[in-house]
Amino acid sequence: MTLLQTDGLTKQFGGLVAVDDVSFEVDSGETRAVIGPNGAGKSTLINCITGALEPTAGTVEFDGQNITNLEPHETVQAGVSKSFQTASIFPSMSVRENVEIAALAAEHGSFQLNFLKRLSGFSAVHDTADQMLGAVDLLDSAGAEAGSLPYGDKRRLEIAIALASEPDLLLMDEPTAGMSPDETADTVDLVEALQEDLGLTILIVEHDMEIIFRIADRILVLNRGQVIADGTPEEVQQSEQVQEAYLGG
Ligand code: ADP
Ligand code: MG
Repeated sequence: MTLLQTDGLTKQFGGLVAVDDVSFEVDSGETRAVIGPNGAGKSTLINCITGALEPTAGTVEFDGQNITNLEPHETVQAGVSKSFQTASIFPSMSVRENVEIAALAAEHGSFQLNFLKRLSGFSAVHDTADQMLGAVDLLDSAGAEAGSLPYGDKRRLEIAIALASEPDLLLMDEPTAGMSPDETADTVDLVEALQEDLGLTILIVEHDMEIIFRIADRILVLNRGQVIADGTPEEVQQSEQVQEAYLGG
């Protein structure tokens, strides 16, 4: 079943066409990857899906609903959540409170921090938070100040924050960027577990080819904003256009 579908999605920044007429779909339950050289338009594509950017043309459909021009908090409520949003962590709050606030923000469709702070700590939201912290293996640090976490744990907290809205589709933009080899391996295991155990559908941008070829069911390849290949890892690997784009041919 198709969960997400873009049709002719285009984003221009002035004269630059960062995302150029991109049509692709994500099936329910799959791990879908987007790859491409630096500046290919991967992040812009993701941000057009979340509503962080307004597309110049084209449509985004999610679960049968047109979500093209929704605000970011509305796409979260529709069931699309993105991890690795810069500054998504409140460093002076506890790890658990960070996830509680995210759960409440999704539920109430607003982000009035003082209002949400008053609601956090109630048992239902407390349970949701602990469930998500368990999923990313951070339950032991639930009471710690979020700002004090090591880098890899902070990135995992960001995943728990994204999960707090109980999304159907989780978007991840370069989740292993800046991580040590050990943190990278843990994150890859985590992404696989989220897909398998929680039945999440995942759309992931990642520059590490080894990771992508290991975890992705299907790969969309962008170059200069355009789709140059789309298919299974094997299909994409055999594409001449992909080899040219990566070898600079
Ligand atoms: P990727 O994530 O694949 O590295 P991006 O989507 O970040 O690529 O960027 C695609 C192109 O759009 C690049 O040429 C980049 O410089 C440009 N771009 C991205 N965001 C903006 C912006 N807010 N304003 C102007 N140009 C942008
Ligand atoms: Mg990017």
